[in-house]
Amino acid sequence: MKIMRSSFSALLTLTAAVALTSLSATQIVTADGGDSNKIPKVAGTLQTTPPPVGAEVLFDGTEASLDKWEPGNKDSKVWPIKNGIWVDTATDLFTKKSYGSCQIHLEWRVPANREVNGQSGGNSGVIFMPKKGWYEVQILESHSNPGTYADGIAGSIYQHSAPKVNPSLPKGEWQSYDITFTAPKFGEKGEVLAKPKFTVIYNGVAVQENFELSGTTLRRGSKLSAHPAKQPIMLQWHKDPIEFRNIWIKDLEK
Ligand code: MG
Repeated sequence: MKIMRSSFSALLTLTAAVALTSLSATQIVTADGGDSNKIPKVAGTLQTTPPPVGAEVLFDGTEASLDKWEPGNKDSKVWPIKNGIWVDTATDLFTKKSYGSCQIHLEWRVPANREVNGQSGGNSGVIFMPKKGWYEVQILESHSNPGTYADGIAGSIYQHSAPKVNPSLPKGEWQSYDITFTAPKFGEKGEVLAKPKFTVIYNGVAVQENFELSGTTLRRGSKLSAHPAKQPIMLQWHKDPIEFRNIWIKDLEK
């Protein structure tokens, strides 16, 4: 794996600059999710950020990193590695460790030969609080996709918030997510003290900024309900062989 040598602070400077330019774009969120073709397309740039100090490597192309993960289906295995690349295969995956608020970097690629239409052909996702809660940052081929609901494309908080803009790169090219997740807080009676919150930098562009979720992303119009404060991170198997590399996480509660 080739990783560009750039400091994390340089990334933050870059993303802050990009965030300023993307804020003026129209955010399309309608009751039915809107039309993905109406999201403005912008140029995105893959960020191959190496793990900063204090981060934990979750996947670096070596067999050793497979120890950090377990399959959701006990009859399945952790995904195979091919030439240092991880291929989404046959089961959801969960980190063995649990996390609350965290920052995660990952790089993903839709194989160049995939036939894509709407939600099929190039679908995965990064899911926070997957045991009870379920808050998904969608992964979807969204560069040459004929179209789907706007809050279902890459960079969306699935079925809750469309990305402000669409910086997707073509199939066959690596793309990057830098996701900051703030875990929700619940009171003793299950009341919501703080909603879950997302900032998503997609190919260097801020597409979600401190978006507060009002429910699980399993359904539109859902409500939050109390759940354990720390849970694994899940990578979704949606029957598409999405490829992954360079995944690291920073626990923001330490
Ligand atoms: Mg998905």
